[in-house]
Amino acid sequence: MKAIQIQQYGSPEVMQIQTVPDLSPQSGQVLIEVKAAGVNPVDTYIRSGSYALKKDLPFTPGFDAAGIILRVGSGVEDLSPGDRVYTSGSLTGTYAQQTLCLASQVHPLPENISFEQGAALGTPYGTAWRALFQRGRALSGQWILIHGASGGVGIAAVQIAAAAGMQVIATAGDEDGRRLVKEQGAAHRFDHNDPRHMDEIYQLTQGVDVVLEMLANVNLDRDLDIMAKGGRVVVIGSRGRIEIDPRKTMARELNICGLMLMHATPEEKKEIYAAIENGLAAGKLNPVIAQKRPLDQAPRAHHQIMQSPHRGKIILLPQ
Ligand code: NAP
Repeated sequence: MKAIQIQQYGSPEVMQIQTVPDLSPQSGQVLIEVKAAGVNPVDTYIRSGSYALKKDLPFTPGFDAAGIILRVGSGVEDLSPGDRVYTSGSLTGTYAQQTLCLASQVHPLPENISFEQGAALGTPYGTAWRALFQRGRALSGQWILIHGASGGVGIAAVQIAAAAGMQVIATAGDEDGRRLVKEQGAAHRFDHNDPRHMDEIYQLTQGVDVVLEMLANVNLDRDLDIMAKGGRVVVIGSRGRIEIDPRKTMARELNICGLMLMHATPEEKKEIYAAIENGLAAGKLNPVIAQKRPLDQAPRAHHQIMQSPHRGKIILLPQ
C-alpha cells in the first residue's frame, strides 16, 4: 500500500509517499481501508519534532480517518468487515491507504456523512465536545465564546453548542469565515483581529460563561476581562507565551483550565463518541470540508493548516 512516511523530523517536505507492506490486525485491532484522512495542527507539531509526543522513526502521521473495515482481529465485537467507520486515533497513522486501530478508536459512520466528513470528526469534534462539557461545564442558555471558530475544532464547537441551546458567539479572521460560522449556528460573530472585539463582546453579554480559546498566547489576558462570575476559559490551543494578570481571576472567581484530548479517560472517550454518534444521527453535526488533496500533497496541506484564513478541514485522499 501507499503511505506517507517520515524518516526524520523537520519541515513539511520530510513527508514522502512510499510503498510499504500491507497491514494485518492483531487481537483487539481493526484494519481499515482509508478513504479520507483528516489533517490536524498536532500532526504538524509531531512532524516537526517540537511536540512532547515523539514517535519512533520512520512513522506515518495522522490520527483521523474514515473508511471501510477490511478485517478485525480476534476479540473484536460489534465491528465487522464492510462497516463504514471513522477513527479517533490510530496505531499506524492515517496518512495511508490502510490504518490499524484499536477497536475503541473506531466508530460507526452514518450513511448521510461522507468519508471526507468522517475524517473531520475524530479530533475536532472530540475536542469540541470535551471542551464544552467535560472541561467547560457549559449549559444550555449560557454565553459561549468560541475564540477561533472557523477551523476544525471551532466549527465543531459552534455546531455542538448551538444544538445544545447555548448562546454562541464565534470569531473568525475574515468576512467569509464569519459567514461560515453564522451558517453553522453562531448567533453573534466578531473579528478576532479587530482590537475592539472583546469590548463589543462584553457589551453584548455583560459576561461570557465559557470561552473556548484556540490561541491563548494571544487572547488569554483579554479573555479574563469579559467573563461572567465563575466563568471558565478552556485553553485548547496556544503557540507561545503570554503575560496575564492573575488578579483578574479573583474578583469574579474565574477558572482557567487546560484541555488535552488524549488525556480523556476511556469512560470520557466513550461519553464523547456516543454523544457525537447521537448528534450525527439527529442531523445536528455536519463537518465542513475546506479542501481535499491527494495523499502525496501532504506537505502542502501541512503548510496550509498553519496559515489563516481557515474554512473548516483539510482532507487527504489516499486512493
Ligand atoms: P485550524 O483548523 O488550523 O483552525 C485554527 C483557528 O484559529 C482558525 O479558526 C483561525 O481563525 C483561528 N485563529 C487565528 N488567529 C486567531 C486569533 N488571534 N484568535 C483566535 N483564533 C484565531 O485548527 P483546529 O484544528 O481548529 O485547532 C485549533 C487549535 O487547537 C490549534 O492550535 C490546535 O493545535 C489546538 N488543538 C488542541 C487540542 C488539544 O487536545 N488540546 C486538540 C485539537 C486542536 P482564522 O483563520 O479565521 O483567522
